[in-house]
Amino acid sequence: LTPVPSDIEISRAQTPKPVNQLAEEIGLLPEELEAYGRSKAKVRLSLLDRLNTQPDGKYVLVAGITPTPLGEGKSTVTIGLVQALSAQLKLNSFACLRQPSQGPTFGVKGGAAGGGYAQVIPMEEFNLHLTGDIHAITAANNLVAAAIDARMLHETTQSDKALFHRLVPSVNGVRRFSPIQISRLRRLGINKTDPASLTPQEVSTFVRLDLDPSKITWQRVLDTNDRFLRKITVGQASTEKGQIRETGFDIAVASEIMAILALADSLEDMKNRLSRMVVGTSRSGQPVTAEDLGVSGALAVLMKDAIKPTLMQTLEGTPVFVHAGPFANIAHGNSSVLADKLALKLVGRDGFVVTEAGFGADIGMEKFFNIKCQASGLRPNVVVLVATVRALKMHGGGPNVSAGAPLPREYIDENLSLVAGGCHSNLRKQIQIAHLFGVPVVVALNVFKTDTQAEIDQVCQIAKECGASDAVPCHHWAQGGRGSIELAQAVKEASSRPSDFKFLYHKEMPIVEKIRTIAQRVYGADDIELSPEAEAKIDYYNQQGYGSLPICMAKTHLSLSHMPDKKGVPTGFVLPIRDVRASIGAGFIYPLVGTMSTMPGLPTRPCFYDIDLDPVTEEITGSS
Ligand code: ADP
Repeated sequence: LTPVPSDIEISRAQTPKPVNQLAEEIGLLPEELEAYGRSKAKVRLSLLDRLNTQPDGKYVLVAGITPTPLGEGKSTVTIGLVQALSAQLKLNSFACLRQPSQGPTFGVKGGAAGGGYAQVIPMEEFNLHLTGDIHAITAANNLVAAAIDARMLHETTQSDKALFHRLVPSVNGVRRFSPIQISRLRRLGINKTDPASLTPQEVSTFVRLDLDPSKITWQRVLDTNDRFLRKITVGQASTEKGQIRETGFDIAVASEIMAILALADSLEDMKNRLSRMVVGTSRSGQPVTAEDLGVSGALAVLMKDAIKPTLMQTLEGTPVFVHAGPFANIAHGNSSVLADKLALKLVGRDGFVVTEAGFGADIGMEKFFNIKCQASGLRPNVVVLVATVRALKMHGGGPNVSAGAPLPREYIDENLSLVAGGCHSNLRKQIQIAHLFGVPVVVALNVFKTDTQAEIDQVCQIAKECGASDAVPCHHWAQGGRGSIELAQAVKEASSRPSDFKFLYHKEMPIVEKIRTIAQRVYGADDIELSPEAEAKIDYYNQQGYGSLPICMAKTHLSLSHMPDKKGVPTGFVLPIRDVRASIGAGFIYPLVGTMSTMPGLPTRPCFYDIDLDPVTEEITGSS
């Protein structure tokens, strides 16, 4: 239709096919499906065993140039591409997307189901509760937080003996350790299974985690942009006997448990990762884990359904897995390993799985390769790099725009010199970054109605001169899959070429060298500068044996450098590493470049102003 209706109007106008029909079409057995309503279902992991010998399809990553407030459209391109591969080229294809957080949905950004005629439907189900995975993460995360504070209280108020008697209760006159307690004893070097045989010193070592309240790294989480919870004081009721401490809330998707969900490749792997999560340090400097708290089994129970990806569909009926959505700065910002693995088996040798990485290629794609592919063992065939004429103009020197403000003329009228500036700087650099990993790049120019033919031609020409295998305009937003046939053909062609994938660094390299490699080779920094705090943390992580974990840089996504206002390709800078933290369960070290907000706030006019429900028809209205 012209003009293109709003996203919600388009979404509502299409009735999704029943999810069991979709499941049958893609070869799932009825017993592999757990339906949640009519249009979405969880898929059991037993499917991986059944399709074990089936060859994988082609693996395509969608990444973008450095984001600007003008929006690039990575999700839209991902959906448009699978719609084109499937309905137009008649190839089995699957999209794997992240589940959005409710924080941005009700806050500034709005939903993340794509847009125009390239969307996942029903979009309100995609954007809100879905199948409850984020709620499960919130419950699990906050159980750990409650366990930490309660344990510190009990350790403060009870003797070793009283603690031991409560932790190892007598049942019918016999005390027995639980399996989780035996595992803790082993880690403490106490190889005993009879509680009566422990010496008083061993009892004390066993019952006291002795957490240092000033070194607790675990925070509570909530999936709401509630800025007033960024810093809170807990334990103020008299019942907590003065155990008052400052802590805070993060948005739920920043929980380490979300990163674990995205990286685990089986229920067992998830359980082990949950056990290994470090929540703080003891007064003697030892890491304290979720297993030490005795909570890891309960966490696995809370997360047992969340580990199954949710099946949905695009407007054109193409299958989509929605699964996990870790923060893209303090975590790796990619959807789940399991969704990708299941989808690659389901599409078979000639099919395509298109998965998306958050932020620009320097962040989302680098982490996709060095963290996600490292964990999964999967190797991508093609990178699709999304760009828009307007974002390229901003990288080429166009004026800054804040989200929602009226667009300056430069972004509406033809301006070939700004477009060329953006292509020769940011686009060229992002193509080069993908080539560092040995993977062919197809540039997808997401066309807006203000783009002129000369601007479109110029982007495609320069992109190819910069080494892209191909560069094509895409019109899926206005036309659906039909508008991305050229992109689908370019991706098919590029995927038939040999990809020479390699990691950027060897995981056994020292932590500092890994950070320096990313800073210099990906961001273009002259060097890195470590704060004394960062150096001390790196020494500590090396002592604890965490030195071979991959690096997950927590850096602004708005620039290749650490300075958000520096567009294009900044040069001549030294990357400051303010602090270094670790997510041991998820399995990465994350250096902090500047301050990262892990709990967004609400603007004066949040997106929720435009969201409403008609109580008679149950119809939802929304802004996009
Ligand atoms: P990203 O994944 O990069 O954050 P999305 O794909 O979610 O971006 O798109 C962001 C918003 O921009 C959506 O509301 C979408 O409808 C809109 N959008 C994307 N592409 C176009 C286009 N070609 N024309 C108009 N609006 C678009």
